[in-house]
Amino acid sequence: PDPTSDRGPPRVLAFANQKGGVGKTTTAINLATALAAEHKVLLLDLDPQGNASTGLGISREDRGAGTYALLVAGRPLTELIRPTAVPNLSILPADPDLAGAEIELVTFENRERRLATAMAAARPTLAEFDFVFLDCPPSLGLLTLNALVAADGVIVPLQTEFFALEGISQITRTIDRVRRALNPRLQLDGIVLTMVDRRNNLSELVAADVRGFFKDKVFETVIPRNVRISESPSHGLPVLLYDFRSPGAQAHLRLAAEFLKRERSRRRAA
Ligand code: ADP
Ligand code: MG
Repeated sequence: PDPTSDRGPPRVLAFANQKGGVGKTTTAINLATALAAEHKVLLLDLDPQGNASTGLGISREDRGAGTYALLVAGRPLTELIRPTAVPNLSILPADPDLAGAEIELVTFENRERRLATAMAAARPTLAEFDFVFLDCPPSLGLLTLNALVAADGVIVPLQTEFFALEGISQITRTIDRVRRALNPRLQLDGIVLTMVDRRNNLSELVAADVRGFFKDKVFETVIPRNVRISESPSHGLPVLLYDFRSPGAQAHLRLAAEFLKRERSRRRAA
């Protein structure tokens, strides 16, 4: 039997890094799409820019009620979930009001637990999913904090560029702090090296440095810089549907296989 396909609570993973443009959304939607071949996946778009929503074909005008309605207005998660063009992949889009949530949430009691509480209230619905992905905004504000409090693990997409190690120490310190104060379950699950250019020496040096420091936390699979990946969001499609044979799509398939292998050994160890 496949240990990753029972119907317990889903694995909840936050895709986080305080830097923008490092591949959080790209990794979240493409890993979700690859996993959806065999698993049920829900993606929550927690970035007011709504790139995960747009990237899965839900345009700004079509977004309607989503994560803002959930976190601020307290609407039930179950009634806000929508299908996407990808079978087995559902989404809770970022509604246009989400930009105000960082500020509005400040006045709430338990403001960092709004998402965890909303998810706990929707347990029967969430039990239908194997994985819930939380696509975080490029900051360590209240929206990301809500994701880290609700998550079991964090996947950190990291662009291999100068100062990459400094950038990652900020998110790992935040994970440690959240684990101590708010969510003892939270783990750094993995680091995905993104936009890797094998012809670029710096890119290779940084990758070696990150691996030297974070060891097997770093996925062996790297995501290459690939123009098909950057084209796909404007078509409202994950690169896996936009151009399946492209190096970017194939890298995400390999990432998904490696991810599932890790999930199985994690479950065996648990
Ligand atoms: P984040 O969510 O961290 O802000 P995105 O995933 O939105 O980052 O990526 C930022 C931009 O870079 C997007 O326009 C995306 O299409 C592009 N991009 C992401 N990964 C790659 C890649 N491997 N190759 C080429 N372009 C990429
Ligand atoms: Mg993003």
